[in-house]
This record gives sequence, structure tokens and C-alpha cells, in this order.
Amino acid sequence: MDITCMEIPGKSKDIKVIKSKKLNWIKTKVTDIKSISPKVKIFTLETEKKIHIEPGQHFEIKLISASGYEAQRSYSVISNFSDTNKLCFAVSKINNGEVSEYLHEKLEISHNLYIRGPIGKYFNLNKICKSVILIAGGIGITPFIFYLRQKNFDTKISLIYSAKNQKEYLFRKELEDKNKLHKNFNLIVTLTKEFERTWKGLNSRINNEIIKSVTNKHSPLKTQYFVCGGSNFVENMSNILMNLGIDYKDIKLERFGP
Ligand SMILES: Cc1cc2nc3c(=O)[nH]c(=O)nc-3n(C[C@H](O)[C@H](O)[C@H](O)COP(=O)(O)OP(=O)(O)OC[C@H]3O[C@@H](n4cnc5c(N)ncnc54)[C@H](O)[C@@H]3O)c2cc1C
Repeated sequence: MDITCMEIPGKSKDIKVIKSKKLNWIKTKVTDIKSISPKVKIFTLETEKKIHIEPGQHFEIKLISASGYEAQRSYSVISNFSDTNKLCFAVSKINNGEVSEYLHEKLEISHNLYIRGPIGKYFNLNKICKSVILIAGGIGITPFIFYLRQKNFDTKISLIYSAKNQKEYLFRKELEDKNKLHKNFNLIVTLTKEFERTWKGLNSRINNEIIKSVTNKHSPLKTQYFVCGGSNFVENMSNILMNLGIDYKDIKLERFGP
């Protein structure tokens, strides 16, 4: 079952569109595991056949214990190419998290994992027109990384990214290199728990003023907003956007957390 969740911010009830589409579990082999921060590792899973993936899509990863107990969670794909047999996922370790802790502590190169996907038409970033503002909280950066890797920056893109500190500022070099290279790309990073003097950037949570000033830079283009992160973060960003008078049809939300 491919479940696409379509949310209308500010409305009392979310609308869920449930589409039936048979997705089979695919056997993959772990070919690479790399730490990119104290909490985040990138896992590369190789499939037999190439898979077509689009930015914003995710896969379900399934763990099966010896007793037959199964647990599955969703992870956004961050690969380098749209047609690939190497699927990369950046997973943040949650304390006592059933799946993320296993992936971080027990999974090894050459192990097999079952995955299902790609899933997600609603958060598909390929459908953006002239101008987009991406808003990420923590590990919610993942769908945007794959999107930015695909882009030639012929459209105006801003990324407002909130991380805890410099160690958890994920994909820093890649993002800062793109920011230097492409005049159509505007990177705004704010670190909410950074105490090092080496950080010269913003330190507040993403707020009304930050979003408003970035929005003004996109004016008069019709701009779409994509927000991704934990539930509280997404809720707060959605409220700010609605209060700024952004049309709900131009806002798309993806919640990672509880
Ligand atoms: C569409 C989609 C895409 C996702 N993509 C990614 C991704 O690219 N990378 C990634 O790391 N995660 C991603 N997630 C989140 C992921 O699916 C899991 O929810 C996450 O890894 C926690 O699972 P777990 O089994 O480790 O923890 P669980 O066993 O499910 O939870 C353990 C405890 O931690 C709490 N908890 C669960 N999630 C969080 C959280 N995010 N922050 C704080 N506390 C939490 C739970 O409430 C519970 O108390 C995505 C989620 C969705 C819906």
C-alpha cells in the first residue's frame, strides 16, 4: 500500500489520500556505511536492478528478527543519481529507537536489508516551477539534499536550515560549495545550540523575520515552500507561513518525528 499524506496547513483535519499500489519488498546489500556526524550515518544499499527515484521520495526499510518480529520505518533517499542501483540513506540515531539504533549499532557491510519504494508523490520536489524555499529542521534536510544534487539552479532556490550545532550541521561542505557556486542558490543556516565562537552565523530558531526576509528576496516570483523535520518543527513552520499569508496550496509539509 502506497500511502500518500496530503496535508492542508491550518485546516482542522489533515486530508489523507490513500492510493493502492502494490510495492514489493526488494532485497538489498549494504555496501557502505559512513558516519557524517556524531548522530548521523549514511548507509548505501545496493539493489540488483536500477531504480528510478525522484527528490523527496522515501523508502521503507524493514528489519526482521530471528523470531520473525518485523519493524519498518521510512527513510528519504539521498542518492546522487535518479536512476541508480545505489540507494543512500542518512539516518539519525534516536536513543532507544528500534530501527535507527539497530542500523547504527548492528548493521554491517555485506548484510542484507529489505526495502520497499520509492514512495511519495506529494512531496516530490521535481514539480517546482520558478522559485522555491526549502525549510529543514535537523535530519529533515535529507529530501532537500537529493533535490539540490539534481539541480542546475535555473530556478531560484533558498534553503533555510536549522541544526543544533556545527557537528550536526549536515552536508556542510556540499551546501556551502553550492552556495558559492550558484547565484540562484541562497543558503541560510541557523544553529540553535551552538556555543563555539567559531560560528559566525545565525543562532535563533527559524522565525517570522528569517522567513519573511527570504521570501522578500524571492518576490515577485510565485514561490513554493517545502518544510521537513520533526512534527513540532513542521507545525511551527507551518504556523509561521500561514501567519505570513502564504497560500496553503504553496506549502508542502513532511513530518519525520513523533
Ligand atoms: C516520509 C519519512 C521520511 C523519513 N526520512 C528519514 C530520514 O531520511 N532520516 C531519518 O533519520 N529519519 C527519517 N524518518 C524518520 C524515521 O522513519 C523513523 O521514525 C526514525 O528513524 C525513528 O525510528 P526508530 O525506530 O529508531 O525509533 P522508534 O522506535 O520509532 O521511536 C523510539 C522513541 O523515539 C521517539 N522518536 C521517534 N522518532 C523521533 C525523532 N525523529 N526525533 C525524536 N524522537 C523520536 C519515539 O516517539 C519513541 O519514543 C522519516 C520519516 C518519514 C515519515
